Amino acid sequence: MSEKIHEVVIVGSGPAGYTAAIYAARAQLEPVMYEGSVTAGGALMNTTEVENFPGFTDGIMGPDLMDSMRKQAARFGTNLITDDIVEMDLKGPVKTLKDGSGNVLKSKSVILAMGSAYREIGLENEKRLSGRGVSWCATCDGFFFRDQEIAVVGGGDSAVEEATFLTKFASKVTLIHRRDSLRASKIMADRAKANPKIEFLWNTEVTDVLGETKMEALQLKNTVTGDVTKREFGALFVAIGHIPRSELITTQVALDAEVYVKVEGRSTKTNLEGVFACGDLVDHTYRQAITAAGSGCQAALDAEKFLSH
Ligand code: NAP
Repeated sequence: MSEKIHEVVIVGSGPAGYTAAIYAARAQLEPVMYEGSVTAGGALMNTTEVENFPGFTDGIMGPDLMDSMRKQAARFGTNLITDDIVEMDLKGPVKTLKDGSGNVLKSKSVILAMGSAYREIGLENEKRLSGRGVSWCATCDGFFFRDQEIAVVGGGDSAVEEATFLTKFASKVTLIHRRDSLRASKIMADRAKANPKIEFLWNTEVTDVLGETKMEALQLKNTVTGDVTKREFGALFVAIGHIPRSELITTQVALDAEVYVKVEGRSTKTNLEGVFACGDLVDHTYRQAITAAGSGCQAALDAEKFLSH
């Protein structure tokens, strides 16, 4: 174990973590940032064009945006570590964190920015056929289903974005939604509705994923009539939202009923002194790259203020 006690360790990358790192580094706090071994960059690494992040008139690809944030954090001296934190003891004035390589760090403050993970439908065969036709990431896996009929489940921005992206490869994309209207933003919904390759299947739930060694079809249930049908697809992309990645801290930091980290008022302060949380880990409502970046900035300012006392 290193005897050094750091000022601040940031756990998790993504817009919240990187922004916290930029602010903490500029405040001379010499932040250490654990980016994650496979998830460095967060959810935006799996997205395509980001058109609503201010400052990019013509949009920017998600991975390029994260790469710029990462370089900006490094430029001011953030110690970026591409590994996971696997254990944390956040109680008391000195926090202890253990990484995936067995290193143990001590820090006076910690910023939690672990983001969120894909939500699953919860079907047994969804898990079994994951990687065999069932996917959560169109940019990662869409290419494998060229000229096939693809299903996307969900009704928010993610589902519409995935469906639109998949029309590059698929012969046809069917967007399956459990209600009769989309939750997605109007501009993205209108674009998908105008795309001749996208069909909408309303009031429909996916009740099973069928196939032996790979996905071959879906069992669908109409939520109005109750009718159950089977329909063949080459792949299913699940885009039904996210769940906060708070599993490492469930016994330490106060969480709400939906396992988001609870913060005090408009601040990023958790129930533990010197522990701050930001981004998708705390945000039920907005969940945008720009709001995550904003809350990462708040977390660094809150940590700086805490450390100065
Ligand atoms: P979301 O807005 O929470 O939408 C999730 C969708 O999945 C909803 O339509 C929901 O149905 C459906 N759903 C949830 N659980 C389900 C289940 N078990 N079975 C079937 N359907 C289920 O999530 P999101 O689309 O991932 O978006 C999250 C946030 O990121 C949003 O704030 C969004 O604006 C943002 N985002 C922005 C962009 C962009 O601007 N480029 C791209 C992606 C995401 P109901 O509608 O019935 O609840």
